[in-house]
Order: sequence, then structure tokens, then C-alpha cells
Amino acid sequence: MSTLVVGTMAFDSLETPFGKAERIIGGSATYIGLAASNFSNDVHLVSVVGDDFPQEQLEDLTRRGVSSEGVERKKGEKSFFWSGKYHNDMNTRDTLDTQLNVLEDFQPKVPDSASEVDFLMLGNLTPSVQMDVILQMKTRPKLILLDTMNFWMDVALDELHEVLKEIDVLTINDEEARQLSGEFSLLKAARKILSMGPNVLIIKKGEHGALMFNEKEAFFAPALPLEEVFDPTGAGDTFAGGLVGHLDATNDISFDNMKRGIIYGSALASFCVEKFGTERVEELTRPEIENRVRQFIDLTQVEINLD
Ligand code: AMP
Repeated sequence: MSTLVVGTMAFDSLETPFGKAERIIGGSATYIGLAASNFSNDVHLVSVVGDDFPQEQLEDLTRRGVSSEGVERKKGEKSFFWSGKYHNDMNTRDTLDTQLNVLEDFQPKVPDSASEVDFLMLGNLTPSVQMDVILQMKTRPKLILLDTMNFWMDVALDELHEVLKEIDVLTINDEEARQLSGEFSLLKAARKILSMGPNVLIIKKGEHGALMFNEKEAFFAPALPLEEVFDPTGAGDTFAGGLVGHLDATNDISFDNMKRGIIYGSALASFCVEKFGTERVEELTRPEIENRVRQFIDLTQVEINLD
């Protein structure tokens, strides 16, 4: 199967209670692409960078089987820049700065090689760019997943509502689900958001795991309790990359298989937070991933006999 990932490729400056990192590589497409490449060998990226973005980063993705043919490099312009500071709980953060730069007037071009993929993962970026990509697909993908954040709810809510009508699976965090729905109860929020377009809603709750809803069912996956968390940046994107990678590798979009997908996504996200930036996700091996998935199974398995 094949997957197209759309999102930002960025420079991030981060501050956590454990340290600081200045202008390291980040961006939603970077994390999602890296994570998905652990499962699928046919991943394509559509994104935009300035001439300050290192070519080696794109070459590294190519070595992992991720095609960057759809990554446009804009001469004389700067890459997207984001800066954030985490609170002591490491679960909440403040955005200190968002510089759209190349993203400001980005018109995505989906290469022919990626216009008939099976899975489309619309990572966090301008909702109108996400819509533009959907419109460029020659055949409708089997599954369209979308991730977004409060920033776009603040500055482009109408466009976000338009694109929500076209997708199958939405992934957002609990705070964003509350903002989008205007409901405090996540159950009520889920009902409202499902009526906006998607058939499946996944609510990420950081160190408290993830909830998944469709019209009839709900599923909860915990996050793995970790001894050390250095930097939660990209955990949500890595989660999405693990999920779509698993769906791509198994070619099964049933709710039951999505449950397995969010366990794979959670396992990958648990690695992401162990080091700053993309470092930990870049060095992952298959046995390490399988080991961690096993820990998730052990963490949640219980036998109860009800008579
Ligand atoms: P996450 O921690 O999973 O929410 O993702 C963090 C990544 O998202 C960082 O690497 C940022 O570069 C990127 N990012 C931050 N703000 C935005 C935004 N408004 N649109 C797209 N990507 C963003």
C-alpha cells in the first residue's frame, strides 16, 4: 500500500524543564514521515521548505524510502519556524512564536507518483492547503486522516470546517476537541465533532493516552508510563505516523484494526519523547518497536470472569 503525508518541515526552538534546543529540525510532516517509514515502504511527502533547510535531512528521508519529490524548496525564503515552552507537567505547552514564512503562500503540488495513494495523512498545517491536496488526488484514497491544532482553529476556523467534511479520521488533543466543539465533556465533544464530517475521532491526551470514537463505539489506549520524558514535541505527529503506517502495512481500515493502529502509534510516540526533536524516532529498530508494543499489551491485559 502507499501513503501520502502532507505537513510542515520546520525549525523548532524548544524549552522543557530538562533543557533547551535551538532551531532543531521538526515539523509535522517530518515526524509523521519518519514514523510511518517504520511500517510502510511507499511513503510520499508534500511540504515546503526555504533554502535554509538542510538537504541532508531530505536525503536521510529518501534513504528510509520516503519520497521527497513533493517537497518544494523556495529560493530566498525561510522555512516554517515554531517555538514552544513546556510547563512542568510536560503535558501542556505555550507556543511562543509561529513564523509561517514559506507556508504563507504555499500552493502544494502533488506529484503524479503520489496522486493515487491508498492513505492520505493530512498533517498539521493550513486547512486550505489540506483541502487543496484532497482536490488534487486522482482517485479518492481509501482513508483520509487529518491532524490540526488550536492555532488553525483561531486563524482559519471556516476553512477547517470545510476540510473536516471531506475526511474520515480526525486526530486532535483534548484541549483542541473542547475548543472545536465548545463542550467540556469529551463524550459530548466527540458527538459534536463526528457530526462535522469525520467517521472516527481520536483524542490524544498526552501522558494520559488516547481515546477513539466512532458513532457506536469508544476505545481507550493508555500511554506507557515512562521514567524519563525529555521533549514531548512531535509526539502527536509520531502517533499519527505510527497509526497510518500500521493501517498502510495491514491494508485494513476496520475500527478493530484502528485500535491496533493507535497502540502502534502510542508505542512510537513513547519513543519520541525520550530525546529532543526527531533523534529517537530516527534511530528506531523493528525489534525495539515490537518490544514496546508488547509492553502496551502487558500493561492493559486483564482477565475478569463475570458470571
Ligand atoms: P506535536 O508536538 O505533535 O503537536 O507537533 C509539533 C510539531 O508541529 C513541531 O515540530 C512544529 O514545527 C509543528 N508545528 C507547530 N505549530 C504548527 C502549526 N501551526 N502548523 C503546522 N505545524 C506546526
